[in-house]
Amino acid sequence: MSQSHPHLLSPLDVGHLTLRNRLVMGSMHTGLEDRARHLPELTAYFTERARGGVAMMVTGGYSPDIEGWLLPAGSTMASRRMADKHRGLTDAVHAEGAHILLQVLHAGRYGYQPFVRSSSSSKSPISPFTARGLSARGVERTIGHWVRAARLAKRAGYDGIEIMGSEGYLINQFLAARTNERTDEWGGTASKRMRFPEEIVRRVRAEVGRDFLVQYRISLLDLVDGGQTWDETAELAQRLEAAGVDVFNTGIGWHEARIPTIVTSVPRGAFASLSARLKDTVGVPVIASNRINTPALAEEILAGGGADLVSMARPLLADPAFAAKVAEGRSDEINICIACNQACLDHTFANKRASCLVNPRAGRETELTLTVAPARRRVAVVGAGPAGLACAEAAASRGLAVEVFEAEPELGGQFRYAMRVPGKEEFASTLAYFRRRLEVLGVPVHLGRRAAAPDLEGFDHVVLATGVRPRVLDLPGADHPMVMTYPELLTGARTPGRRVAVIGAGGIGVDVSEFLLAGGPGLAVDGRDAHGHSTDVEAWNRHWGVADPAVERAGLGTAVLDEPAHEVHLLQRKTSRIGRGLGKTTGWVHRAELKKGGVQQYTGVTYRAIDDDGLHITTGDGASRVVEVDSVVVCAGQESVRDLVADLEARGARLHVIGGADVAAELDAKRAIRQGVELAARL
Ligand code: NAP
Ligand code: SF4
Repeated sequence: MSQSHPHLLSPLDVGHLTLRNRLVMGSMHTGLEDRARHLPELTAYFTERARGGVAMMVTGGYSPDIEGWLLPAGSTMASRRMADKHRGLTDAVHAEGAHILLQVLHAGRYGYQPFVRSSSSSKSPISPFTARGLSARGVERTIGHWVRAARLAKRAGYDGIEIMGSEGYLINQFLAARTNERTDEWGGTASKRMRFPEEIVRRVRAEVGRDFLVQYRISLLDLVDGGQTWDETAELAQRLEAAGVDVFNTGIGWHEARIPTIVTSVPRGAFASLSARLKDTVGVPVIASNRINTPALAEEILAGGGADLVSMARPLLADPAFAAKVAEGRSDEINICIACNQACLDHTFANKRASCLVNPRAGRETELTLTVAPARRRVAVVGAGPAGLACAEAAASRGLAVEVFEAEPELGGQFRYAMRVPGKEEFASTLAYFRRRLEVLGVPVHLGRRAAAPDLEGFDHVVLATGVRPRVLDLPGADHPMVMTYPELLTGARTPGRRVAVIGAGGIGVDVSEFLLAGGPGLAVDGRDAHGHSTDVEAWNRHWGVADPAVERAGLGTAVLDEPAHEVHLLQRKTSRIGRGLGKTTGWVHRAELKKGGVQQYTGVTYRAIDDDGLHITTGDGASRVVEVDSVVVCAGQESVRDLVADLEARGARLHVIGGADVAAELDAKRAIRQGVELAARL
């Protein structure tokens, strides 16, 4: 047993349960909850994480009734038949020594369905449906449905429920004057608005008795106009504790808030001080959450007395064995969640099954299995970008004899550039993970070695993951000294002038614009402690105007913006809105950063030439103009590097081409890593 994380690994009595350590897996809607036929997959998903050592898990949200559905026919806990179907899941989790709670979530006006109800009639900015206000009888009926869900969860074998009282769902809609315009006993004053969750807790407790955990997820910082003050939050917590709550989980920000709370540019542990404040307010245990993704940070929070438990949801998608690895002293082998949202929340919001960019097995535990290879065949992986690294790690973990060849002096491929973008420092963690795993698995990694076909003789399989090269512009002046590629800029090989044009507004063009605004990389060692607001909580709070909720209602203050380091012009040929192709849960954050930095955006342009005057374009309305800049950075996509294919095919190699070498268009790390692991499973 490792002694390096004594607080994280120590047991804790919570309600009637003894938790084996301080790690709780927070709720994450995977999409498997919505259909009973997916219960076997959901069971495999939770069982793998229970086996991986987590103390307690919370399911994705289950609505107590039809009106509370997030989506039409979404996950519901409203019948004994459904409860009985969950028995296999809870038994399997218990057999692995973990506990599991059912999260009960009423979406209120966030429901993407026509039956939506809220405290008062209103429409949220994130659903096209207008909610009708619940009548007084409707409020009573809804509370009764929460009680029923709790009773059924107990019947299903769950150890308790989590009452979802954060992120802007129905309970918040009752608590906040923003959405609650009632004048009856459920509204009118802050105290009366608190009666709704208070009654839910009181009646649930009366129904289920003491041998059933009642966990309440409380919003510590609403980040919306008309949200709660800290005094109101503290009063609510004390009343809920008196009503029967055993443990508080914490949540930050309503979904409609325009301040990011979980994306990768939010500093790690940004909200931990608020859980510490809640802990001083109540007598029951408190769980810290949001942007906690490493054992070191969890240990720091627990050791400092800032929380009794730590919740991680996405980090356990990324690595189901998180807790076991900590216990075995193998923390450096944890696959860290980089908070990209690309395969989890972006999928959830697109109504697709959630998975994980760095662990494509998440949510597909029954389909994508890495069994022991029948023979120790030799596998050469050429290229150590995300696709090659993922393939090499997964193949070696199956027992195949893998060797990696990388032409550059360091591994990482396109990730080496991504991790230098301010706010994307986390990408360095993925490279650190692969580096360590390949070392542990004894995989020879030949860096600085451009493999030629003869070097690859004798391998049973050759995996070509040679990636991409930046597209070169076909334009008069494309070779002008002011022009540079994005790798030249991001690695510091070239220094831009004060005024910069960025050609191409895809994911990389937007990243490059943010890099220019910040004046350089935000990265120091392992993604921490650099300049820039992405690693400094106070600077980040100032940049987004996040205030102390004890001073400003709901934590909404005034943003203080730094002077941008460059004047940035971002251009694309398409007429669509810039950044349209970015992730659903992250794109708005990038668009806000461009706006904050005063980036001048051009759509529908034709590029004509580059010369000493700058970039000559024709704008969408047919006018010619010169964008007067000192430098031009080309972010016009990539082309596949497949130089070895013909030679290897001529030699009869068993060749597999993956990642950007396979298809460069719209390549992202999610596809690259998934392709790498899927291939490794088949070799
Ligand atoms: P991209 O998204 O394909 O964007 C490249 C842009 O360059 C295109 O949108 C295109 O826009 C423009 N372009 C293409 N050919 C051109 C030419 N010959 N001359 C001038 N402009 C040209 O590629 P990327 O930005 O390099 O990103 C690569 C991959 O990484 C993408 O799949 C992206 O999703 C992923 N990525 C994702 C994120 C993220 O946050 N999720 C961040 C970075 C990268 P126009 O034709 O309209 O000008
Ligand atoms: Fe974390 Fe990204 Fe995986 Fe989601 S997809 S769990 S944010 S690494």
